[in-house]
Amino acid sequence: MRRILILSTALGALLALPLARGESAAPNGGFNYKADRFADIQVLRYQVPGFENLSLRQKTLAYYLYQAGLSGRDIFWDQKYRHNLTVRKTLETVLQTYGGHRSGSDWDAFVVYAKRVFFANGIHHHYGSAKMLPTFPKDYLLTLLAKSDQKQLPLGGKSVQEFAAALTPILFDPAIDAKTVNLDAGVDNVKESANNFYRGVTADEVAAFYARKAKETGNPRLSYGLNSQLAKIDGVIVERPWKVGGMYGPAIEQIVGWLEKAVPLAENDAQKKTLEHLIAYYRTGDLAEFDKSCIAWVSDTESKVDVVNGFIEVYADATQKRGSYESVVSLKDEVATKRIAAISAQAQWFEDHAPILDAHKKKNVTGISAKVITVIGEVGDSAPSTPIGINLPNAEWIREQYGSKSVSLGNIVESYNDVQSKSPANEEFGYDQAVVQRLKKWGPLAADLHTDMHEVIGHASGVINPGVGPTDQTLKAYAGTLEEARADLVALYYILDPKLIEIGVMPTLDVGKAAYDKYLMNGLMTQLFRIQPGHQLEEAHMRNRQLISGWVFEKGQPEKVVERVTRDGKTYFRINDYEKLRGLFGQLLREIQRIKSEGDYEAGKALVENYGVKVDQPLLTEVHRRYAPLDIAPYMGFIQPRLVAVKRGEKITDVKVEYPKDFLGQMLEYGKNYSFLTSEEKL
Ligand code: ZN
Repeated sequence: MRRILILSTALGALLALPLARGESAAPNGGFNYKADRFADIQVLRYQVPGFENLSLRQKTLAYYLYQAGLSGRDIFWDQKYRHNLTVRKTLETVLQTYGGHRSGSDWDAFVVYAKRVFFANGIHHHYGSAKMLPTFPKDYLLTLLAKSDQKQLPLGGKSVQEFAAALTPILFDPAIDAKTVNLDAGVDNVKESANNFYRGVTADEVAAFYARKAKETGNPRLSYGLNSQLAKIDGVIVERPWKVGGMYGPAIEQIVGWLEKAVPLAENDAQKKTLEHLIAYYRTGDLAEFDKSCIAWVSDTESKVDVVNGFIEVYADATQKRGSYESVVSLKDEVATKRIAAISAQAQWFEDHAPILDAHKKKNVTGISAKVITVIGEVGDSAPSTPIGINLPNAEWIREQYGSKSVSLGNIVESYNDVQSKSPANEEFGYDQAVVQRLKKWGPLAADLHTDMHEVIGHASGVINPGVGPTDQTLKAYAGTLEEARADLVALYYILDPKLIEIGVMPTLDVGKAAYDKYLMNGLMTQLFRIQPGHQLEEAHMRNRQLISGWVFEKGQPEKVVERVTRDGKTYFRINDYEKLRGLFGQLLREIQRIKSEGDYEAGKALVENYGVKVDQPLLTEVHRRYAPLDIAPYMGFIQPRLVAVKRGEKITDVKVEYPKDFLGQMLEYGKNYSFLTSEEKL
């Protein structure tokens, strides 16, 4: 709900995240989205269209918020692991001052390791959470350190030999501080997590501390633990708040300084309150101030420039209390927001014309309102790896009383879409050139529209029969898969409807055909790349995609609506009749809506188990074999744009956006300009 990642969305339905090394197409006015490729990572770039049309006041506001965001970058590094800042300073120093040979396999392995650490904001993998091990030899570390500037290395009074000896197990021993967050069953998840949210306390002590705290304060609503480290000091367990004068104080003072410059430029009262309460929160550590800031933020739907800044998501903490630092500065994408609004405005038409039983239609449907933003800059937990959608705030009581904002990161999605639409996987798995070319041309718009309709009319449609309980009770473990299938089917059914041309959101039905090509290619084949041989499908979205694709394939067999073709020993799925396929999507939508409306557990279970779980193992093996030479990166992230203030004297006269191309260069630039913290604990 809170954070939508590339792998877990409707958009993800269309993607198997395929990318090739060295493809250097420079579309879209010459902008090259691809920047770097190493280990399991593809680094992309994104543009900020519309920034130049902001007023000087709005640009300056964005600039101050961008600076505030970067000022807290060190916090996230330290939150993830207590030695991360020492390691980073070491890597930065070697990269900038090493006087030995800067070539050969050891050096190359060092550079790849450094890039991986920068990408992950620390030595643990950004997604898998396990320690990433260097592939250069252990003794090469001393070579690197000995020929680098000793004055810049964080030696902490040690000789370079002693420092290397202390650092070696931290980098190379997989057993020491193995995972930044450990969610395994049967272990103490607090003690076994290497993150810096806790010091010297056990999971039981954490639970007892917060049970007592909620009782003592008499206010169970506050997000206790969100903004502090919990530490045992001299036998006493205390919170060390992240605030001015507290832990991370030097970085937070910088953040506050920039936020204070931003306040007078706020676009309206709600935004002003958002920033003022955020400043008060950073100054005092008072969680009630953060809640006030969130309430003002939710109510601000008018501002052109927007920001998320603070300790926000709690996934990095095994107890789901402590917030990771992040900042996302953005501007509203009026055009894309209009596209969503155009669909949302027709929500009743879509409901009335849906192929579901009349009894299951909503009489008064309101599309979910959502906005699309253009990201200007991300920091901390949201960079370089980024969500594609954000739904905040997280405090449950604020969501219930004041609502939440659902935001799609439009230019980030566009960058993904561009790369996806030209993926070599389309060439490999697409039946013919007509399919490949159509995906290239219309794949990005198809992905956008699919996501919009999935979210805005898909989940919002249909009614449950009177007396039938909510689906988590009736359909139990199958509820999630069936709900995602229902939302996908609404999108699939309408993406080939001339209505979308009529309301001006797409120019041709070829967009719908491209959506069908990609959906079946993924649901029947390419998504199998993500699971290992011998395994079945577990994840709800993957199950839903195979369920839909497999069902329409089987039901269309008598008329060969979709055909399985083998050519040169390779499997393809060819769509022979797009209109009939649309009819099949409609039939399945009608059935799944019936299952939901009636709470028909047995029918829901049968659909998921028969079509969504079991994997065609020979096909899976074939998919893996065909993917291997494509050199696909499973993870993607971004280089951030750079905002530059043009000044006359002290006065800002303009703000320009630059688009750096060098990932490592940007990391070193940040290290130089925004280093406000060091690791508390010496090696
Ligand atoms: Zn969904």
